[in-house]
Amino acid sequence: MSGESADSGTTPVVAIDGPAGTGKSSVARLLADRVGAHYLDTGAMYRAATLAVLRADVAPDSVEVASVVAATDIRLSVDGDGATVVTLDGDDVSAQIRTDDVTSSVSAVSANAEVRVRLVDLQRTHADRTLLVVEGRDIGTVVFPAAALKIYLTATPEARAERRHRQNVAAGRESILDEVLDNVNRRDHLDSTREASPLRPADDAVHVDTSDMTLDQVLDTLTELVETRIGGQP
Ligand code: C5P
Repeated sequence: MSGESADSGTTPVVAIDGPAGTGKSSVARLLADRVGAHYLDTGAMYRAATLAVLRADVAPDSVEVASVVAATDIRLSVDGDGATVVTLDGDDVSAQIRTDDVTSSVSAVSANAEVRVRLVDLQRTHADRTLLVVEGRDIGTVVFPAAALKIYLTATPEARAERRHRQNVAAGRESILDEVLDNVNRRDHLDSTREASPLRPADDAVHVDTSDMTLDQVLDTLTELVETRIGGQP
């Protein structure tokens, strides 16, 4: 079966889904490093698409976003430190995709069904024989429904906002906790109520509530899941 490992009928993918601020990005990257897997941050693709839309001066919730994204070359790679490098028509936009402007508009752009089809196709090109840790919102449900392991990370909105706020402060970005909480709640609402691939756990996902866990504890829990369910590299 094409794209699937012959013995188990599953794709060599660890799908990590969940709302913003559950620690997905940090843990997915560290997990990939620990288990010798490749890593793919699909949120970075939707952020890059959103930056292209903003640069084209097109409203994030308009139908024109699909043609802007279709005409843009978005590429993702990982640098020597394991950080995601994103290019837009050859331009390194890895920092620009994390700005407030992009964060505020990304849910509207990612609700566009045509944008999703294009980016899901792009995401699937990253799968090969090497184990791939993929994080996003619809990885276990839509992008890789035959993933060897599906994890759904959750945490209370307050715990998630607190984490995002600390990350902003550490990165020298201006941040007000109440505003971060509003943004987290607004994005969750948009992401989980949209028609195209809403955020929801796959039926066979393992749920991990990270509210009261440290990053190391989450990492240990996920590593153990990979080792018991997949047994290292496929
Ligand atoms: O993970 P991150 O917070 O960077 O994702 C940014 C946004 O991209 C999410 O709020 C969501 O709207 C969108 N997204 C998505 N599907 C994915 C990954 C991200 O719709 N697989």
